[in-house]
Amino acid sequence: MRELVDEARAWLAWAQDSGLRILTPEARKGAPAGEAAAQETVRPEVPVKLPLLEGVRGEMGECTRCKLHKTRTNIVFGVGSPEARLMFVGEAPGEDEDLQGFPFVGKAGQLLTKMIEAMGYARGDVYICNVLRCRPPGNRNPEPDEVASCEPFLKKQLGAIRPRMIVALGKFAVQCLLRDDSPIGRLRGNLRSYEGIPLMPTFHPAYLLRDPSKKKLAWDDLKAVNAALASVGISPPRPPAA
Ligand code: URA
Repeated sequence: MRELVDEARAWLAWAQDSGLRILTPEARKGAPAGEAAAQETVRPEVPVKLPLLEGVRGEMGECTRCKLHKTRTNIVFGVGSPEARLMFVGEAPGEDEDLQGFPFVGKAGQLLTKMIEAMGYARGDVYICNVLRCRPPGNRNPEPDEVASCEPFLKKQLGAIRPRMIVALGKFAVQCLLRDDSPIGRLRGNLRSYEGIPLMPTFHPAYLLRDPSKKKLAWDDLKAVNAALASVGISPPRPPAA
């Protein structure tokens, strides 16, 4: 009990340091109507998921669970909003990501950013991570023991964020998450589910850079994601591209 109280106190201190105003029920009674109403809209945005996500990162530590720790420069945990409704999952960090410690920061990442923006979101509105958190040497395909070590952390990140939709990017991420080795050309565009969360398989941006004629299909998939989210009352902060 004492631990719970200490934890709640620490959280309140952290929330206040972060500029959040918390109204107690008593204060809410005395607050001007507009202010109490504003709190209603502010409340769901209170970032309770950040400490959960930090807990997952803490549990991962300086991970040595698989052999990739020997060759990595940085662990690439994930980036974006802990409150994201939409999460993008790629394969594994490449060279740029390994050096910088953030997912999708190379050429494929620049295209992914454009795709996210065309949907009406900014990179900071969504959450981006990979099946693997360390770069396979020479960008080789992830191996089963590496996926087995790292996927539990993906599941914990999902458990912390609880997005309303996952977009799985490319053959590897899609086949691995769905445990389905059908070709990506057949899987893409068809809503599935992972850990109870709707999952849209689509092409990897690196593949789209190699074959730009597939961009139209990928855009169809992302429009279908926006439509599925709209059907549960979630719309992007800005109007999507036509
Ligand atoms: N490709 C991926 O799948 N993930 C990254 O983070 C970068 C490139």
